[in-house]
Amino acid sequence: MKPRDRLRIAMQKSGRLTEPALDLLNRCGLTFRQSRDKLFLFGEGEPVDLLLVRDDDIPGLIAQGVCDLGIVGRNVLSEFQLTAGREGPALSEWRSLGFGRCRLSIAVPQEFDYREPAQLQGMRIATSYPGLLGEWLRTNGVDAGVVTLAGSVEIAPRLGTADAICDLVQSGGTLVANQLREADVLLESEAVLTGPEALPTDERGDMIDLLLKRLDGVIQVRESRLLLLQTSRSALDAVIRLLPGGPQPTLLPVAGQPDQLMLQALCAGEVSWRQLEEIKKAGAREMFVLPVEKMLA
Ligand code: ATP
Ligand code: ZN
Repeated sequence: MKPRDRLRIAMQKSGRLTEPALDLLNRCGLTFRQSRDKLFLFGEGEPVDLLLVRDDDIPGLIAQGVCDLGIVGRNVLSEFQLTAGREGPALSEWRSLGFGRCRLSIAVPQEFDYREPAQLQGMRIATSYPGLLGEWLRTNGVDAGVVTLAGSVEIAPRLGTADAICDLVQSGGTLVANQLREADVLLESEAVLTGPEALPTDERGDMIDLLLKRLDGVIQVRESRLLLLQTSRSALDAVIRLLPGGPQPTLLPVAGQPDQLMLQALCAGEVSWRQLEEIKKAGAREMFVLPVEKMLA
């Protein structure tokens, strides 16, 4: 294959992961020129292009070297690793991205009193994830039939083609609508950034390094808040004790008020009204909670 000097990222063309993945890449400073076929989006600022494909094709495209990185559900990546055999480079999960959360679960008819995997012995289980299900059955020493279906797995029990299913669950609404209930969890999934275990050593490797650093900045601060407040020196200890978790706060002098300090703290999550009121009672005032957009440590 011809060496490339531009990085190529594969992501889902249209589906649950499309919007949040594009949004994440935008936050990392990557913007793309819309092309008419929308299969290939040319990167405008940085030498990074996007390939828009079905999510199931993403691991294979990376394994073949067509793309350098991909954004895909852990469920799809793990299934690929279990079923694709050993040809091509091994894929790594470089980062968890915090969206597209769901579970790969066993679901059984509502009247089935499920307590343990052994009860599935001899049953037929419908799934689009034969690799992951097969491994789970083996690990649990259960001998069950695996019925591989490309889609509409949840109606298999009603159609009589399976006794139970193994499928993705988010809220459980689809299961209830099909008179099924979640019985056991095989895999906790979310969108991940995947790529070959050995990253390219040319310019693309440098670009991946840069992208990972920016991603870390975005992911780390996505939930973070910057808390700003004023406090007297005498109340400082009490105020600090009440600060929501995070690294050490920064203290700054306040011009003309030697007994006052300005405090700045990065908090790991939401700061509630209740917390603010408690901190205020301890002696703080002029409090601000700001969302954080970018961070470069
Ligand atoms: P295509 O194959 O055309 O790209 P798809 O139908 O396989 O689309 P989606 O339904 O958009 O894909 O799901 C993409 C990913 O979103 C899943 O692989 C999974 O990681 C994640 N996901 C999150 N919640 C759910 C859910 N309730 N059902 C299915 N997938 C979910
Ligand atoms: Zn798919």
